[in-house]
Amino acid sequence: MKLRSLMFLICLSCAVTLACTQAQEPTGAKNVILFVGDGLGAEQMALGIRYARMVEGRELNMEQLMSDGNTGYSLADPYESPVTDSAAAASQLATGIKARNETLGVDPSGDRTETILEWAEGRGLATGLVTNMRLSHATAAAFAAHELSRYVPESVILDQMLFEHDVDVLLGGGARALVPAGHRVSEFLPGIPEELDGNSRRDDDLDRISEAKGQGYTVVSDRHALAQASRSANKLLGLFAASHVPYVIDARTMGLDSAPSLEESTDAALEVLARSEGGFFLMVEGGRIDYGGHDNDAGTMLHEILDFDAAVGAGIAFQRVHPETLVIVTADHGTGGFSITYVETDGPPEPQVLPSGLTYQLDTRYPDKRDLEVLGNQTASFQYILAKAEGSPERLVEAVLEHTGLSMTMEEAQEALVRDSEGNAWPEESPRFYGDLGSNPACLLSRTLARHTFFVWSTGGHTSGPLLTFGRGPGAEGLRGVYVNTHVHDVIMDAVGER
Ligand SMILES: [Zn+2]
Repeated sequence: MKLRSLMFLICLSCAVTLACTQAQEPTGAKNVILFVGDGLGAEQMALGIRYARMVEGRELNMEQLMSDGNTGYSLADPYESPVTDSAAAASQLATGIKARNETLGVDPSGDRTETILEWAEGRGLATGLVTNMRLSHATAAAFAAHELSRYVPESVILDQMLFEHDVDVLLGGGARALVPAGHRVSEFLPGIPEELDGNSRRDDDLDRISEAKGQGYTVVSDRHALAQASRSANKLLGLFAASHVPYVIDARTMGLDSAPSLEESTDAALEVLARSEGGFFLMVEGGRIDYGGHDNDAGTMLHEILDFDAAVGAGIAFQRVHPETLVIVTADHGTGGFSITYVETDGPPEPQVLPSGLTYQLDTRYPDKRDLEVLGNQTASFQYILAKAEGSPERLVEAVLEHTGLSMTMEEAQEALVRDSEGNAWPEESPRFYGDLGSNPACLLSRTLARHTFFVWSTGGHTSGPLLTFGRGPGAEGLRGVYVNTHVHDVIMDAVGER
């Protein structure tokens, strides 16, 4: 018997004595959780899915969510460009209006535009922003700040986010913008370890952390305090680093367990926001995927993708219990032009005798599961490895072997440490696509190590490829199709019944 007929009979049998208690499909979304993978382009997504399938024998949470069928092909094109920075992409998600690159919450004329978070605040919904970047960084900032340039001082942006809004949950890094000039962050947030400490980035004497407490925020700076506070706090401000929260693999290697994972932060935020009678809007950013891409560091990037995916899992688990929740996962752009390729080797690979008895002879070497395992087994970022080497080729060879398992030669190590007269590293003859000097030493190391892997990169910057956008819950079917990412904003507004 077809399931539908069976359900009909069951409903008939209960109709006389009691109203059929079959769960009602919610008609609109009461809660919205928007996950933004910063730098999670289609190739990055494919890396995560492949690694989970081939090495771990499982599906990513994101793959499961995509399999629901509410999956779209999104382009993040900002105003009059095919390539976006994180500020414009997030502004478009937040406002539904095209934005110029490097702007936050303003339209192409420069006028302030209302964000989803502001709309939610106006309607009495609870709101939250969770990230592993500085809270003042582009993605989170685009939901609760308005500036023609994202590069105004961090304190200007964070002051807007904290004191011109009433965001109930703010979790991330960037505490240095909230402590008075001339002070260290740890003087105000004792949970911050030395490695994540830093000097104030304010130019005034304001102690914004105490002011936030005065506004009703419970302020926490480590994962244990976060877990505890989320049980009772009405408003929660979690600051886990002076700047960005460290890469997952570096935190592990350095024994830094003070900062929560993105999954823990998401759980904590949901616990607080779920107490809101009127529903909530929450944005969660996996921001360090992008930095792994800027560094051309595939292993670090993979670990960040897996961390983000675990946070998405927390969103899905919440949605199962609260079906009136719309969960959306999207990205703002790809980073680095990452891909996996095959290589010509000196001689042909070893022939294999197949079960048929025939001999299979490849002409070219293709990667396999073991090459993906190298990424999974990486225990420190290229940035960390380079810092540890301190410019010494001998130490670089050692650190690369220890943290990646790859044996680079002394010549390769010397090549990876070449710097120009100003101390800058350039991964290519032409530095045109490697403008971000902070990432360049890591990119040069990546180029050198590429001789031992199948991982290739085309730039140190952002790329223009398609972004997978998908979700579950009321209104998620609106995510099907091909569109510019302003549509994601419209899907959310449709789902909450605003359009
Ligand atoms: Zn970026």
